[in-house]
Amino acid sequence: MEHTENKTNFITNAINHDIADKVYKNDRIHTRFPPEPNGYLHIGHAKAALLNYRIAQQYNGKFNLRFDDTNPIKEDMEYVDSIKKDLSWLGIDWEDRLFFASSYFEKMANYAVELIKKGLAFVDDLTADEMREYRGNLNEPGKESPYRNRSIEENLNLFEQMKAGKLPEGSRVLRAKIDMASPNMNMRDPAIYRILHTTHHSTKDEWFIFPMYDYAHPIEDAIEGITHSLCTLEFEDHRPFYEWVLSNLNDFQNEPPRQIEFAMLNLTKTILGKRFIKQLVDEKIVDGWDDPRLVTISGLRRRGYTPESIQNFCEAIGIAKNNSTVDIAMLEHFIRDDLKFKAPRLMTVLDPLKVTITNYPEGQVEWVELPLNQEDPEIGNYCTPFSREIYVERSDFLELPPKKFYRLFSGNEVRLRGAYFVVCNEVIKDAAGKVIELKCTYDPATRSGSGFAERKVKGTIHWVDANLSKKVEIHLYDNLIDDDEGLTKDNFLERINPNSLKIIEGYAEPEVMKAKPLEKFQFIRNGFFSADPKYSTLEVPVFNQIVSLKSSWKPEK
Ligand code: ATP
Ligand code: MG
Repeated sequence: MEHTENKTNFITNAINHDIADKVYKNDRIHTRFPPEPNGYLHIGHAKAALLNYRIAQQYNGKFNLRFDDTNPIKEDMEYVDSIKKDLSWLGIDWEDRLFFASSYFEKMANYAVELIKKGLAFVDDLTADEMREYRGNLNEPGKESPYRNRSIEENLNLFEQMKAGKLPEGSRVLRAKIDMASPNMNMRDPAIYRILHTTHHSTKDEWFIFPMYDYAHPIEDAIEGITHSLCTLEFEDHRPFYEWVLSNLNDFQNEPPRQIEFAMLNLTKTILGKRFIKQLVDEKIVDGWDDPRLVTISGLRRRGYTPESIQNFCEAIGIAKNNSTVDIAMLEHFIRDDLKFKAPRLMTVLDPLKVTITNYPEGQVEWVELPLNQEDPEIGNYCTPFSREIYVERSDFLELPPKKFYRLFSGNEVRLRGAYFVVCNEVIKDAAGKVIELKCTYDPATRSGSGFAERKVKGTIHWVDANLSKKVEIHLYDNLIDDDEGLTKDNFLERINPNSLKIIEGYAEPEVMKAKPLEKFQFIRNGFFSADPKYSTLEVPVFNQIVSLKSSWKPEK
């Protein structure tokens, strides 16, 4: 797609320049996706992961999956496993290059010693509060810590004690010695190691000190031979420190990686950000990380999204240098687009109104043949039962039809999709005046496909056989956030749309009962649906509505 190439230009331009300048030996290109295993991946991560993976593919390069597991407090193996599963599902292949930042802890500590020996790092005793005070702000330079000029000897000794677990948690930190007056706050002697006596999910109790992200990340990239470290815009101000770390370590003087930032994905009417999604999960506001209302990869999968739809969406939004928000309707467009031809089209009735065809023989069942998807005859046909009693959608009947209503009303003839023409003769109501049944007659000469030169009717409606159809549970979804104006991190919980999930019962033709978990369908006129892998049973299949059929978003021409 030329269009997409334009949008990703600034990254590929930078890479092309590096290739022209022979920055990396043999034009090698090596990218990575570095998730922290502290939550499940969401659609924003898919954008970042697919970008890194595609760039590697485009340049015949390599792609690493690296868990940035440097913070033992929030991380867990459950997240490692889910992230691997989600990335594979998205079609991302890291081959044998699966890495863990924690496996570099020894090296990172040695590099810290190298910085101390070069007079570029010191152990600080200031409390966290004092450190904040000394840091200054955007308008005022910071003040140097009184511990900044400790001897190298003393620093080495203290760092050794930190490492050996001899100093209490939080009592000291190792800081880079750069410039407390720097206009860039990230260069004001940033902390590079902290003391934590927490068990790490993979190194267990081996370590009492843990590297800070900004120090660890460039080292992880450099150890792995990454050439282009693509990350989101909020790291732009951290780039000078990224470069400072690498330029001061002897091992990384050749072909150091280069950081390039791109805009984060934001979506309307939903919640992005692991921290917030985790809160929804922990407080049981949603049904786990894979709740179909979430834009986590596992939630989208359970909802019925396909990897292709997410890949195509990520391609289409492109990569920009400015943050912007994408309409969630655009994401929905791509699943409709993907399923339009792929998904079989079957009939369900979600709000049933009984129809009795009074001139149809009692006890008779005919199996009428229908295409599985008329857009793609190759998928073939299937058969559905038809008899004297059927259900139609309540909204397909009106007592007082407006002009241009061509479906059922008294005296009107409609086509039952794939079967016969019927005329509505009588409307039955209950004591409260609610319509509970229609009595119709059919014309035996109008059977679909019988070769009969059909007279014209303007309306075709879908239906299911009342006796041979089965009950199904349908989960209808609405946006997690109705209106995202004024949504903040503090008020998002109270802004969750209470109607974001509606559970109803419907009737489905027998063919629907064959659905396997995650199998997708278009239920005629009702939208695209996917069999829920968590709650569906053989007795009562559960279907998640992926999207309705109508789109409020149109692709640019
Ligand atoms: P969150 O902000 O949701 O908590 P994170 O950035 O803390 O996510 P990481 O595991 O550190 O989570 O993310 C791995 C990579 O995914 C990072 O390089 C990050 O820049 C990228 N990423 C995270 N969120 C988005 C987003 N919304 N759009 C694009 N890339 C993202
Ligand atoms: Mg983040």
